[in-house]
Amino acid sequence: MPVGVLACNCSVFGDEQSKEALVVDPGDDIGQVLAIVERHGLTVKAIVITHAHIDHIGGAQKLKLATGAPVYMNSADAGLQKMMDVQAGWLGMRTPEPVEIDTPARDGDRLVIGATEFHVLHTPGHTPGSISLWIPSEGKLAAGDTLFRDSIGRTDLPGGDGRQILQSIHDKLIPLADETVVIPGHGEITTMGREKQFNYFLQGMA
Ligand SMILES: [Zn+2]
Repeated sequence: MPVGVLACNCSVFGDEQSKEALVVDPGDDIGQVLAIVERHGLTVKAIVITHAHIDHIGGAQKLKLATGAPVYMNSADAGLQKMMDVQAGWLGMRTPEPVEIDTPARDGDRLVIGATEFHVLHTPGHTPGSISLWIPSEGKLAAGDTLFRDSIGRTDLPGGDGRQILQSIHDKLIPLADETVVIPGHGEITTMGREKQFNYFLQGMA
């Protein structure tokens, strides 16, 4: 679901058997996120932040307080997280309540929700600590702001690196199967196959 003024895609992954859930990027509109969780009878076991931009992390503390779930983020974005008041200023927003990261999300880490594994891929470039979440059993990728339908994340904000984001996509995302469903941080869902074929930034990579 898109949340907040920048329409960040917040995802709720719920396990039908155990009713455990993992939430990615609760940027805002936590009331709506909780309504989905409740409607499906889920218990949130983990909150994953793909990167420390305000539109992705802004509601994390509210969700953490409401669910008691631990928050995961890559520690390379700690600097950006400390700049939350500056980020709020860019958007003319109020600074959200700060959230304490419980567990660093490192490349290769695996979170298990019910019977489903979520693999952390460190994909720096949009920010130094940007991660993507790969769900092999579902063939799905939550890509944060690393990869979009027809585009990639901007790299002109503090900590961004245009060369590094392309390297991350080349090394970590291109190897994923064409059928992989990509849930980007903003905009429409796509697939790796479609992006390999049509995304200008990915040409010559596959
Ligand atoms: Zn971002």
